[in-house]
Amino acid sequence: MAYYVDRNVKMTWWERIYLPEILRGMYITSRHFFLNLFGFIPFFLGTSKRRKIFTVYYPEETVKYPAAYRGRPVLAINEQGRPNCVACGLCEAACPAYCIDIVPAENSGKQNEVERWPKEFTIDYAVCIFCGFCEEACPEEAIFMSDNCEISMLDRKDMKYNLQQLSVPIAQLKDRLEFTRKMYGKWNY
Ligand code: SF4
Ligand code: SF4
Repeated sequence: MAYYVDRNVKMTWWERIYLPEILRGMYITSRHFFLNLFGFIPFFLGTSKRRKIFTVYYPEETVKYPAAYRGRPVLAINEQGRPNCVACGLCEAACPAYCIDIVPAENSGKQNEVERWPKEFTIDYAVCIFCGFCEEACPEEAIFMSDNCEISMLDRKDMKYNLQQLSVPIAQLKDRLEFTRKMYGKWNY
């Protein structure tokens, strides 16, 4: 579900006098602080199986990111095992960080059913700013912002992913696919 900021909200007189809202904010912050501080106790006493805290012990524990999350961009592989990409280059042109490189090839009748296909496709995650413009520009539902953000490396060169490393089965991108269809449909693309 996408979240939009409603900029037409009118403040009540109670909100406009400011101080009560500051105190309310401090109350909420303090409540979270003390809940986190004492939320371990039932777990350590054995009376609860889960810690009642808001933080997670990453990387041992992870959370599921919402479909709107923009992790590393990946290439969708369709049910026939081929990339949806037709090497049109629109994502490459839309990318403000110039981190996409595509080498197109013409179909020889073996690689793909479409006329063109990407012989090489690289994204340099060391340069990518995770803006999602590539996904927005793509006419083929071929590139998606995934929920994967674990791309730290010891060598910057290793952050340049090739076609094989970028490929993800479309079934794993179902949530994002539905999200983009709704989002771009809303903007009448
Ligand atoms: S997310 Fe933005 S910066 Fe990253 S590859 Fe796509 S267009 Fe380029
Ligand atoms: S990912 Fe999409 S926009 Fe980029 S080259 Fe392939 S089909 Fe074109």
